Amino acid sequence: MNYNVNEKGYYGDFGGAYIPEMLYPNVEELRQNYISVMQEPEFQEEFKELLKEYVGRPTPLYYAKRFSEKYGTKVYLKREDLCHTGAHKVNNTIGQILMAKRLGKNRIIAETGAGQHGVATATVCALMGLECIVYMGAIDIKRQAPNVARMKMLGATVISAESGSKTLKDATNEAIRDWINNPTNTHYIIGSVVGPHPYPDMVARFQSVISEEVKKQLLEKEGRENPDYVVACVGGGSNAAGLFYHYLDKPEVGIIAVEAAGKGIHSGESAATSALGKEGIIHGSKTLLMQTDDGQITEPYSISAGLDYPGVGPMHAHLFRSGRGEFISVTDADAMQAGLDLCKLEGIIPAIESSHALAIFEDRKFKKDDVIVVNLSGRGDKDLNTYIEYFDLA
Ligand SMILES: *Cc1c(COP(=O)(O)O)cnc(C)c1O
Repeated sequence: MNYNVNEKGYYGDFGGAYIPEMLYPNVEELRQNYISVMQEPEFQEEFKELLKEYVGRPTPLYYAKRFSEKYGTKVYLKREDLCHTGAHKVNNTIGQILMAKRLGKNRIIAETGAGQHGVATATVCALMGLECIVYMGAIDIKRQAPNVARMKMLGATVISAESGSKTLKDATNEAIRDWINNPTNTHYIIGSVVGPHPYPDMVARFQSVISEEVKKQLLEKEGRENPDYVVACVGGGSNAAGLFYHYLDKPEVGIIAVEAAGKGIHSGESAATSALGKEGIIHGSKTLLMQTDDGQITEPYSISAGLDYPGVGPMHAHLFRSGRGEFISVTDADAMQAGLDLCKLEGIIPAIESSHALAIFEDRKFKKDDVIVVNLSGRGDKDLNTYIEYFDLA
């Protein structure tokens, strides 16, 4: 079976480009050009150079000795938390800003929920001196004031989406409207492996630097490129897609995707898409998403803003449906505890998203000699207030 995208833009039954007709020229321009642009030697050179000198890649593959001892197996952490801006998202925004420049676009738009993708986009726009407009729901602007301030410091214009529930979905609608109205000079930077084809594939390719590095690093440390398992949290699924990418067609490597169960899968407050989702269309692609019987998208919930999304990208829907991926959901409580454990065991404060991936070791048992790579997608600085409130640390 093929686990990567096919020439029509599908992963098995999932993916495609379900977009309003007025958006077709923009998406089609990108579809026709993205692969040839990415394959240009000058593009590759500039991308690699920025990842090295600006982002700080390669990120370490760190053997977590005390964490491994606790769980009786061998765990390596891929340290995406050490990327400039504190998470993996910048790998993708660097790639897309270079793509935008090659396509002659001088105006960048993005949508953001918690603000992390908005900050990563504003960062690379400052780096390249391009105009940056970030759409954000009015409620999210209130909830995520520090990230709004960061975007403004970086020179971005933040536009409040005042319609509907005033959150991510409404910000996305505004961004799409903007793109339709500005087809020639504007590129829309999507922040995860979601959206119409070619976005999921393009973002996965930019993030695939993660598993490209893991292969080399593991060969050095373990004498083999392939671990027994790769583990990552899934919001839209970009950090997971980056870690899984070069292992999709290696059946000897187990793929484990970790979703947010929030207050419990059946609590009504969850983001466990594989457990609860049904086939539907969101943000221009056919995938699994949480919806009511009459097809209304259900409001997701997770204590971690990055996993608080009602769907997963089409690659992950296919990994789930085909059985290639093992999907585990982790509650807020278990993720928070796992995050605190990592602080005490390794001196690393993880993002709450990443803590979900760390939490599986309580219940999911591995063999003593198994080599497991967990993607530490981001650092916990942005989550300090949540940790403080949750553990009453003030
Ligand atoms: C945004 C974010 C995620 C979730 O996004 P994916 O596209 O699923 O990777 C996970 N971890 C961190 C630290 C994030 O900022």
